[in-house]
Amino acid sequence: MQYRQLGKIDFKVSALGFGAMRLPSMKNPLDPRVDEKEAIRMIRHAIDSGVNYIDTAWPYHLGASEKILGKALLDGYREKVFLVTKLPMFLVNKQEDFGKYFHAQLEKLQTDYVDCYLFHALNEKNFNKVKDFELIKEMEKERDAGRIRNIGFSFHDTLPVFKKIIDFYDWDLTQIQYNYLDTTVQAGEEGLKYAAEKGMAVTIMEPLKGGMLAKPPKEARKLLEASSVKRTPVDWALQYLWNLPEVSVVLSGMSTGEQLEQNLESAEKSGIGKLTEEENGTINSIISIYREKILVPCTACQYCMPCPAGVNIPENFALANSANMKPETLWDRIMLFNTKRKYRKLASNKVKVNKTVPDGNASLCIECGKCLSHCPQTIAIPDELKKVHQFLRYGRNEF
Ligand code: SF4
Ligand code: SF4
Repeated sequence: MQYRQLGKIDFKVSALGFGAMRLPSMKNPLDPRVDEKEAIRMIRHAIDSGVNYIDTAWPYHLGASEKILGKALLDGYREKVFLVTKLPMFLVNKQEDFGKYFHAQLEKLQTDYVDCYLFHALNEKNFNKVKDFELIKEMEKERDAGRIRNIGFSFHDTLPVFKKIIDFYDWDLTQIQYNYLDTTVQAGEEGLKYAAEKGMAVTIMEPLKGGMLAKPPKEARKLLEASSVKRTPVDWALQYLWNLPEVSVVLSGMSTGEQLEQNLESAEKSGIGKLTEEENGTINSIISIYREKILVPCTACQYCMPCPAGVNIPENFALANSANMKPETLWDRIMLFNTKRKYRKLASNKVKVNKTVPDGNASLCIECGKCLSHCPQTIAIPDELKKVHQFLRYGRNEF
């Protein structure tokens, strides 16, 4: 494992961090329930292989992530990692909520302290709550009591809001969405550099844009295959991030043992400034291809779920993005047929839809708007779902 400096925090962090928001699921990939035994095995194997940074949050896996981590970190594993969790800002409505959630989280995680506590998903609205309810004071009280070692925030909003938050306090760490497609959205490249210049640790979430960068469009795949450097699409995306001096640790939400092994192998080869001019050129070319192909910039974070109408929102967007290709070969046509068949297999009847394991297609959206405020990508979900249905059901591209 390669290790890097965690910003101003006195800690050498593994290049790869374990993001506990995409733990292995039960048999059906649409099922949000976690295969706990496999999750614990994977977390412990990652730690035994040198990973020393673990990130979780209150809502991950509908509350199950912190509990499973609590079990995984028994038997001496807790002391081996820098453990991060987050205050669920969407549930905070008064100052006392800070203590209520923080202490419940310590209990779930079966620990007396967290190495860093973040305000979760700060945007303009949530930042106002931090100020109005004087939540920094609450953070500092817990830090003085030794239950919080470092203070930070994760972020989803625009660059000006990011800078405003950074300038508000002497933060230790920030967690931002960043990958080779997102250099100009949210904090972006300018925000990454701004935080790093202040000495903050910068941890990266969504390095694969919700898995999108693991499955490049055909044109991008051809380009990668023609490159003199042979790597998997995932390795290209990760090495792009590790190449940057401002990046402290890259979080990966790994769902299978195979993904974990591949990421460990990639991390072993990582380093700052290692990519050549040719390699950077290859990445620039695939960025242009991706930008033409993505219909909905959904990262499959699941924050919008559950939908009261049973719509599997991220699955619908993933299918639309994957269907947006020009079929040239027989194989392309088969793939497109399969994508459309998968869409037809989603429930289209509100009586039959499974609300525990949401399996509804886009047509079931009742436009209640409940999901809108939860989407960090600010996707107009009900509007986009209408377009998805027209596209996947009738072949009309209204994007
Ligand atoms: S607006 Fe549609 S997709 Fe969003 S929560 Fe309501 S029914 Fe579900
Ligand atoms: S629609 Fe938004 S909130 Fe829902 S999974 Fe996609 S990115 Fe996340």
